[in-house]
Amino acid sequence: MKQFQYTKATSPQGVLEAISKPGTKIIAGGTNLVDHMKHGLIAPDKLVDINHLPLKGITPTKSGLHIGTLALNSVVSENALVLQKQPLLSMALKAGASPQLRNMATVGGNIMQRTRCTYFYDTIMPCNKREPGTGCGAMEGYNRMHAIFGASGQCIAVHPSDMCVALAALDAQVIITGKKGEKRMPFTDFHRLPDDHPELDNHLAKDEMILGVEIPDNNFAKNSYYLKVRDRQSYAFALVSVAVGLDLSGGTIRSARLAMGGVAHKPWRLFEAEKFLAGKTATEDNFKQAAQLAMQGAKAYEYNAFKLKLAPAAITEALKHASGIV
Ligand code: SF4
Repeated sequence: MKQFQYTKATSPQGVLEAISKPGTKIIAGGTNLVDHMKHGLIAPDKLVDINHLPLKGITPTKSGLHIGTLALNSVVSENALVLQKQPLLSMALKAGASPQLRNMATVGGNIMQRTRCTYFYDTIMPCNKREPGTGCGAMEGYNRMHAIFGASGQCIAVHPSDMCVALAALDAQVIITGKKGEKRMPFTDFHRLPDDHPELDNHLAKDEMILGVEIPDNNFAKNSYYLKVRDRQSYAFALVSVAVGLDLSGGTIRSARLAMGGVAHKPWRLFEAEKFLAGKTATEDNFKQAAQLAMQGAKAYEYNAFKLKLAPAAITEALKHASGIV
């Protein structure tokens, strides 16, 4: 590994100053960044450690819940306010990685983590995300874990996070600071589809940093569910995952929020299914119809065609659990 400088940031302004210089990266939990350095995917000149900034808080706001970028995944998943107001987020976090990793990983780092496509990590294989213009090893390779929505001719990778699927479903906002000041971005707009620039994972500019996320209050707490289908029960990425929040009145769905993981380059929100479910009765038949609507436009590759059946089944199952009709 190349030698690098290490410095501790004392303010967000100091971080912005540091990252304006090429070759400088932010480090918090390091659970993905250090992997990248070990694999030779990146070789920064300098790391700015932000762990000492006061950005760990989980606090109620007038209309929601603010979670600082440095809040640990394990802490967020057990926080009383999160469990009471946004249990879907807790469920998704607990489905991710391992307890050891959740004890190190931060909210901001989880949002910024990069794909786990094995060809991305294997530096002797072509990968447009790692090295633009070299090709995509997965396209004709073993693409069992890869996308069925929103892929491009350049990249068919998926975003690996569970937490981000819940935040997309919950209409979270990402709070960002940069030289022009603070701004908010809807979570569903934060991550990108690959298009012609798969090297870009999200819309965070190089000279910006995440301060936290805010989740608006909702009526989904009683009827939330996160379903993760994976090859083994822990420490495995999703083949398909589904985050569901339902606002139910009697047996009628007042509104629904759904997002999927393991299917696209970004957390994949199921807007058509949500529209269909609004005002409908919570029945298995309606859930199956919503799942079929959600699958419009899905496209499989050689080894991941099973996702075309697994995904609608998972959506139906997650809706049944969320509504309590299982
Ligand atoms: Fe690289 Fe994307 Fe292809 Fe994977 S799917 S090899 S990340 S370009």
